[in-house]
Amino acid sequence: MTSDDRIPTQPSCADDFDPDTLSAEEAEHRIEALIRPVGGCEKIAVRSTLNRTLAEDIVSTVNVPAHTNSAMDGYAVRSSDLPADDSTTMLTVIGTAWAGRPYHGSAQENQCVRIMTGAKMPEGADTVIMQEQVECVDNMLRVGAGHQPGQNVRRAGEDLAIGEVAVSAGKNISPAELGLFASLGIAEIKLARRLRVAFFSTGDELRSIGEPLAEGEIYDSNRYTLHGMLARLNVESLDMGVITDQRDAISEAFQYAASMADVVITTGGVSVGEADFIREILAETGTVDFWKLAIKPGRPLAFGTVNDALFFGLPGNPVAVMVTFYEFVQPALRRMMGQSDVRPARFKVPCQSRLRKRPGRMEFQRGRLKVADDGSLSVSRTGAQGSGMLSSMSTANCFIILPTASGSVEPGDVVYVEPFEGLV
Ligand code: AMP
Ligand code: MG
Repeated sequence: MTSDDRIPTQPSCADDFDPDTLSAEEAEHRIEALIRPVGGCEKIAVRSTLNRTLAEDIVSTVNVPAHTNSAMDGYAVRSSDLPADDSTTMLTVIGTAWAGRPYHGSAQENQCVRIMTGAKMPEGADTVIMQEQVECVDNMLRVGAGHQPGQNVRRAGEDLAIGEVAVSAGKNISPAELGLFASLGIAEIKLARRLRVAFFSTGDELRSIGEPLAEGEIYDSNRYTLHGMLARLNVESLDMGVITDQRDAISEAFQYAASMADVVITTGGVSVGEADFIREILAETGTVDFWKLAIKPGRPLAFGTVNDALFFGLPGNPVAVMVTFYEFVQPALRRMMGQSDVRPARFKVPCQSRLRKRPGRMEFQRGRLKVADDGSLSVSRTGAQGSGMLSSMSTANCFIILPTASGSVEPGDVVYVEPFEGLV
């Protein structure tokens, strides 16, 4: 056979370098360039704001704490009465200050006030001595040396001062913010409206749970992982089910989804098979910004617009769906919600496994971060890494991210990891 008889090949999923593809970084920039935060906001009672996005700066109208108070159960004293080194002094206890029930008198020279945690500091006193560090007989308090002026006192406004921005717009609200809002006495919070996301699966082979499977058919798992990932982001999601690989049906579903939602997500049908229509239909009904990325898994990823909606055509393979969602869709959705911290944390740890890789694509292998007895972190690979093997995601708790140019990793080499949750 001469070289001329060889079948010419085209770029494929098996290649590690394809000049037609975008890098992950370029793709991120292209997505960012098209994104606008959705307008509209609503006022919601504090308790219902968890995991929503704050639409305006919360400025403190009060000091928190409102008054200077004791951080301990003990005695409020005047620092000028504290004894010098190696000596002791006697103070008269003139009353008691309770949390919520202040002592209204004033501590004069050599006087002190019994005080409980959270109680307002009485006039004249500026220092609290823990009850365990004194002797008290009748109304006389014996105080030793070694106390610092101002100790064990929480100053008014030390948590938040009047006029200070307590929480900035764009914050994804966590339990700490609920408490902060309450500490400022605010009952209702202005939130960005919830994002609307419509999604459907494409594929003639897909059946929904509850339906019998004929030969060659499989259950649609992508809609379930998508449902889970979208639920965590607290968006309003519209599950449109499975659409068969027919141009008209897909095209119609595109239009309907775009009329209902801010973002449309599909899975499957973006590669180069006979029934992979997504990119063509996107080009007919909307705009295609890019459709191929130099990443693994997840090379085919169509991104563009349909009418006013943003469109993500994710690959069909279940792991590729999760990789492309976490890496590209999730940050985009967070930006549209008006959030500022949208990228998951990445950090370096030693890798205990050998990872095979060829240069040319950025890889997202599935890893498990482990804490050793001495508290140090390391990561190892979670078994077989096929892009259809969802079990590799289920046993993993992070992605191991191998840059485009890198080759294989040997045990002990340091790699970047990105935990699935917990740090952002
Ligand atoms: P495609 O991108 O449509 O060629 O699909 C790639 C692979 O992913 C094929 O093996 C499909 O059967 C599989 N696949 C596509 N969609 C789904 C889905 N919703 N759930 C599970 N597997 C799927
Ligand atoms: Mg398909």
